[in-house]
Amino acid sequence: MLELLTEKFSKSLLRLRDSRKVTEKVVNDVLRDIRAALLEADVDYQVVKSFLKRVRDRVLSEDLKKSLSPADSIVFTVYEELTKILGQQKEDLKKGVVLFVGLQGTGKTTTIGKLAHMLKAQNYNVTVSSTDVRRPAAMLQLQRLSEKVGVPYYSFEEGLSAVDIAKKAVERYKKEGMDFLLLDTAGRLHVDEELMEELKQIKEAVKPSEILYVADAMQGQEALNVARTFHEALGLTGVILTKMDGDARGGLALSVREALGVPIKFIGVGEKIEDLEPFYPDRIAQRILG
Ligand code: GDP
Repeated sequence: MLELLTEKFSKSLLRLRDSRKVTEKVVNDVLRDIRAALLEADVDYQVVKSFLKRVRDRVLSEDLKKSLSPADSIVFTVYEELTKILGQQKEDLKKGVVLFVGLQGTGKTTTIGKLAHMLKAQNYNVTVSSTDVRRPAAMLQLQRLSEKVGVPYYSFEEGLSAVDIAKKAVERYKKEGMDFLLLDTAGRLHVDEELMEELKQIKEAVKPSEILYVADAMQGQEALNVARTFHEALGLTGVILTKMDGDARGGLALSVREALGVPIKFIGVGEKIEDLEPFYPDRIAQRILG
């Protein structure tokens, strides 16, 4: 692993390979390259700043590994700090009602299908439902997915509000003694007050065990602000980062963990029903660094 990273930072490391002492100059040179890598991975600007400050303080105050050159040692420290922030290897889901929130097109509905598939394979009794009353096509999409996975989809008479659907779905899920109810909510192209108000009411009505924010890894620098708005309004318990099969390096994982303290629970790695993976901090740390 370290070899891979040091290869990536070979230019600055080569320059410094001969330095035997951790001078401020060595530290600054390596951290400049790391900073560029983090920004390129779309880690939030402020997060990059506070993260690097911590690494810098640690590097300058500690005895570094004797077996490594100072430059390699700094890269190692960066990797270690990244993994620490990104959190535990396995984040379990609490049984109960799992509310999915996020903007439209991020992969929310697809992810519900994937998670239903995963939980069913673990022998849980899973059911799904959608409160997206404004987009019948989205409800139909989830219904189709549930048929494919082989879990019940709860549908109700037309004309109900999103909050009413949520309440009825929870009543039925309780009556049937299910382990999980995965509940889809309406997405919007942008955050708006009406959406947040509706989500707050749904939260109040269903008392979810988890509120998962689905974020598109390709979203870029604006993504943290959007996630923060959802977190402040609802209190997220986890994030699922989708489209990690693409070019995105996943800097958003670091941003949400560092700035919001919310764990990443899963990552989406494709369009198929099996394409959901647990979150491995070390893999993402490596990817974020390039
Ligand atoms: P929603 O509007 O948030 O419910 O988004 P959808 O679930 O409809 O997904 C939007 C698009 O993203 C669809 O074409 C999905 O197939 C695609 N998608 C979702 N997750 C992933 C993923 O992890 N990787 C890739 N490549 N595509 C994904």
